[in-house]
Amino acid sequence: MRKPFIAGNWKMNNTRAAALELVNALKPLVADVSDVEIAVAPTFTCLQDVAEALKGSNIELSAQNISYAKNGAYTGEISADMLKDVGCTHAIIGHSERRQYFGETDHDVSKRVRAALDNNIIPIVCVGETLAQREAGKTSDVVLGQVENGLSSVKKEEAAKVVIAYEPVWAIGTGVTATPDQAQEVHAAIRLKLAELFGADNAAAMRIQYGGSVKASNAKELLGQADIDGALVGGASLKAADFSAIIHAAK
Ligand code: PEP
Repeated sequence: MRKPFIAGNWKMNNTRAAALELVNALKPLVADVSDVEIAVAPTFTCLQDVAEALKGSNIELSAQNISYAKNGAYTGEISADMLKDVGCTHAIIGHSERRQYFGETDHDVSKRVRAALDNNIIPIVCVGETLAQREAGKTSDVVLGQVENGLSSVKKEEAAKVVIAYEPVWAIGTGVTATPDQAQEVHAAIRLKLAELFGADNAAAMRIQYGGSVKASNAKELLGQADIDGALVGGASLKAADFSAIIHAAK
């Protein structure tokens, strides 16, 4: 039985004061939730303050990225050691905005995934097709290729720890959501690919989140699909009440 996992990707939003306000508003709203795993991913500058605020709560801390390198001359990068040092347990990897604006490739993703796993950080690996790719009938090729290449550094025995986030690029931040059927179709295909790569037992244990304009009003139906095991939430994670409603919909 896969435990639903809801993570909030705050992207480049919130100063430290605003981040604390948000997380302190969220904590009491979800304090009674034990059957859903919950994480928030603030910007790097807010991680330490948010980590302090989350102590003793049921909310985990994720970074929005992780360096593949251990340390050294990598200006602007943040290593796994540094993330662990401030209390991160998870890292989002290969978000479509990183791929689109910062040129990240599946090869980068696989290196970052390796660094995360080597340091006991759970990778949340994002995959998803653009609208042009969907319209050209390439959704499966693109998404399954990203899964295979992005997870090429993962060993069979560690696969169950990895979280995948299927996020159709055309649904991110647009207010347009994949229908539950559209999402389920891709999630099922991803799980088949995971079975091919890591075996059926691992594939059955791995969580696949959906992301792309998830909100309180559509969460229940999406999360009710057989292969949708949670959500990676952008915009709606910036308001405590909205994010809490999504978390409660996952129960
Ligand atoms: C995201 O950035 O991961 C995301 C899904 O954003 P939104 O919920 O705003 O579409």
